[in-house]
Amino acid sequence: MPCWPLTPASNCRSERTDDVIEQATQTARVLNEALPYIQRLSGKTVVIKYGGNAMVDADLRESFARNMVLLKHVGVAPVVVHGGGPQIGQLLEQLGKESRFVQGMRVTDAETMDVVEMVLGGQVNKAIVAQINKVGGHAVGLTGKDGGLIRARPMKLAGRDADVELGQVGEVESIDPTLVHLIAGGDFIPVIAPIGVDAQGVAYNINADLAASKVATVLGAEKLLLLTNTPGVLDAGGKLLQALHASEVQALIDDGTIAGGMLPKVRCALDALDANVSTATIMDGRVANAVLLELFTDAGIGTQIRAGSAVAG
Ligand code: ADP
Ligand code: MG
Repeated sequence: MPCWPLTPASNCRSERTDDVIEQATQTARVLNEALPYIQRLSGKTVVIKYGGNAMVDADLRESFARNMVLLKHVGVAPVVVHGGGPQIGQLLEQLGKESRFVQGMRVTDAETMDVVEMVLGGQVNKAIVAQINKVGGHAVGLTGKDGGLIRARPMKLAGRDADVELGQVGEVESIDPTLVHLIAGGDFIPVIAPIGVDAQGVAYNINADLAASKVATVLGAEKLLLLTNTPGVLDAGGKLLQALHASEVQALIDDGTIAGGMLPKVRCALDALDANVSTATIMDGRVANAVLLELFTDAGIGTQIRAGSAVAG
């Protein structure tokens, strides 16, 4: 039995069979190998977009929460920005309201916006906070309304969808990071629901990838991790692209390989890199300990988006 969460160590020593010793040795090796990564990241901020689809499984939710608490304990400041698409969709369906998506954005009328606020800012945000706190962390839930965190304006799509009326779908106009600094600079882990507000107090539904990317930029984060429900960016044959350079992205969008909900992710990753976030990774949130794998192992996971062009050979 693992000793988690708070059993005193003296009560949970396993009998030292060969198997147990081998497993413990492996654990010690892994921790030791993580040291240089921890040293490099300690004192830095990592912004994690936690996707709606990666939140559905109870074991994964716990693994994610424990990863956040571990980061905090080794001196990394995790800042979580979460989605909640499936959860919003579920309640809208129960209410008999259909959703329409254009370029991965949910068309949001006033009634839909109420549901978005209830689900994102209420149910989903507090569930993540509670989960992190349950495993020993101190998470604090926020929406973009708190402390004037996210100022939003209506989003306008470009190109052939320019005439589409998206309703209360927003894009980030500006971020005031004061409150996040205050929270993350202490013992706390900020958990942000991507709801923005304009000067008149009107709320906007902001794609969580966009919000995460802007938050990462304004905080001067070292890394942006976008957790989702696929292994990363897949090529036309469905194979994972382990690295993707900025110069390769447009062609994949033009030929339709990157579409739907993957579009904002890739664009956000590129924006973050332009703004000096050192790496942006689109990765599988359905893998246990995904965040630790990416941050603290050589192999990493998912698709690391890189600035510039691929170097031949
Ligand atoms: P999330 O809730 O994590 O934001 P989304 O559904 O918005 O997830 O975006 C991820 C989805 O993007 C994938 O499940 C997949 O259907 C779609 N997608 C489009 N193009 C690609 C691609 N090239 N590689 C991987 N997924 C893609
Ligand atoms: Mg999405």
